[in-house]
Amino acid sequence: MNNTIIRDVMLSFVRVHILHHAAREAVFGLAMIEELRRHGYDLSPGTLYPTLHGMEQSGLLKCKHEVVAGKVRKYYTATAKGRRTLDELKGKIKELFGELFDA
Ligand SMILES: [Zn+2]
Repeated sequence: MNNTIIRDVMLSFVRVHILHHAAREAVFGLAMIEELRRHGYDLSPGTLYPTLHGMEQSGLLKCKHEVVAGKVRKYYTATAKGRRTLDELKGKIKELFGELFDA
């Protein structure tokens, strides 16, 4: 029960984190896994790739295929909807942060 909640919330944080970076530059799976690891999130490709794909299906990210060293790499950037969603979420996060940490 407890672990399910933590996992759900973590995955939501991960989505916000992806949106944040994809709104600034094109991101790809492996680099995003490394970036998230830097922040203390240990995600497998089996979790991250479906997350990126789901966000694309929801219209938050758009995907561009590029060939890098003979391999197809999928680069994701935030769509207009993704940017609007990020702005809205940032407002909510800021409000919650203030409540939690008396900021
Ligand atoms: Zn980051």
